[in-house]
Amino acid sequence: VELPIHEAVLGPAAAFGDAPALIDGTDGTTLTYEQLDRFHRRIAAGLAEAGVRKGDVLALHSPNTVAFPTAFYAATRAGASVTTVHPLATPEEFAKQLKDSAARWIVTVSPLLEAARRAAELAGGVQEIFVCDSAPGHRSLIDMLASAAPEPQTDIDPATDVAALPYSSGTTGIPKGVMLTHRQIATNLAQLEPVIPTGPGDRILAVLPFFHIYGLTALMNAPLRLGATVVVLPRFELETFLAAIQNHRITGLYVAPPIVLALAKHPLVAQYDLSSLKYIVSAAAPLDAKLAAACSQRLGLPPVGQAYGMTELSPGTHVVPLDAMNDAPPGTVGRLIAGTEMRIVSLDDPDKDLGVGESGEILIRGPQVMKGYLGRPDATAAMIDPDGWLHTGDVGHVDADGWLFVVDRVKELIKYKGFQVAPAELEALLLTHPGIADAAVIGVYNDDGNEVPHAYVVRQPSVTDLSEGEVMMYVAERVAPYKRVRQVTFIDGVPRAASGKILRRELRTLREAT
Ligand code: ATP
Ligand code: MG
Repeated sequence: VELPIHEAVLGPAAAFGDAPALIDGTDGTTLTYEQLDRFHRRIAAGLAEAGVRKGDVLALHSPNTVAFPTAFYAATRAGASVTTVHPLATPEEFAKQLKDSAARWIVTVSPLLEAARRAAELAGGVQEIFVCDSAPGHRSLIDMLASAAPEPQTDIDPATDVAALPYSSGTTGIPKGVMLTHRQIATNLAQLEPVIPTGPGDRILAVLPFFHIYGLTALMNAPLRLGATVVVLPRFELETFLAAIQNHRITGLYVAPPIVLALAKHPLVAQYDLSSLKYIVSAAAPLDAKLAAACSQRLGLPPVGQAYGMTELSPGTHVVPLDAMNDAPPGTVGRLIAGTEMRIVSLDDPDKDLGVGESGEILIRGPQVMKGYLGRPDATAAMIDPDGWLHTGDVGHVDADGWLFVVDRVKELIKYKGFQVAPAELEALLLTHPGIADAAVIGVYNDDGNEVPHAYVVRQPSVTDLSEGEVMMYVAERVAPYKRVRQVTFIDGVPRAASGKILRRELRTLREAT
């Protein structure tokens, strides 16, 4: 039988009883599996009593806390579609999402209450704001634990009802609301489970945000379904992160490339005992093979295994299986998971399928392809063709054994005099320079009207004398002439989305402003 997501994840929870489901990585607050199951049912009753009905959109606005999953599953059990909101969204950004999703309810935490109130005012249409903790004048989820109301008997159709409404990261444009049904999310979980098995005794560190689909799946749904323990941190801060790995004996890490970079290069890492770690998975943005190797060698771990996906794919399609991390070719994002099809087609002629080693656009078909973008039928049609193939907008190629390599996004490729240059490749090369802490590359037009790579470079804190010329020379000595970096700007930090992606549009804005 097919189950709604809260049943699919928490159905097995009873069997894990007093085992810790969630631990707050900063203060140690613990929630057992039995509590998670009981609490989410009571809160579902409380939400239903407060008026939450099937089909309502509920905005969950919170950093990672032990209460986040309880709030999420309580809301879906009450029949709501949950739209997860960036905890640091400005009231204006939050209001846009509320309006776009026609949200009627907000669940937030007291430190963010002011932003939530202002967003609700700006957007209109929000009936009530609940808090996870407590705040005067607002109903709290804690109070709902005492609700005597009956558990809502919501008639959910997993195949068509939307469980989650995450917004895409907004890397290439405005974030779009992605409708994911209970079936899509649950199916993707089942597809991913055998690839990186987890279970009781495993301790997963949730430092990437639950609100993004990567965290929601890899750090919340997957480990909770299988009885692992999730240690939560509200944000990435290197020392707290390293201390949490050490003190909680973390066994598995799901991170994004900037964290791999920190693990590979930062001096602080050597001061912590990270010997409990068994594997590291990186996803959400391109990760260079050399950087990955530097990280795993330093920590004495199998090579960092990558995964690939997008919000529109619930989110996964490719993973390096745990038992293949030692043997997978460096730089691969993994192999196609079960029940999913892929094509690689020519960028010039989308009807032409490409062969082994040839780079083209990645197309995906499978049960995890989204229902569509909320309220954007045109954007949905532009993304999913009539045969059901989702056009990812990413460029990649496969080797003879089926390992996928992602080159970059189609939109980010720089076309220099007819040649294509992937910013990700240049960024990876720049990071191999000992004086460079971080780097981002965008395509810009120079005075002759040619699109050329412009590098934004962050110097290592101890380095002050690295010049623009030296950076250009370093790249020129290592790449074909058409790939040379032709402009360099030093900056203090690379703008990134919460999921670790470089926000190249912010660099463009910066460039236009100067
Ligand atoms: P938007 O669609 O709003 O512009 P976004 O595409 O960044 O934002 P997400 O759904 O969070 O939003 O990200 C999906 C994208 O992340 C993929 O299309 C791909 O470009 C990138 N990505 C994910 N995993 C990897 C990986 N392992 N290597 C390289 N890129 C990756
Ligand atoms: Mg996208």
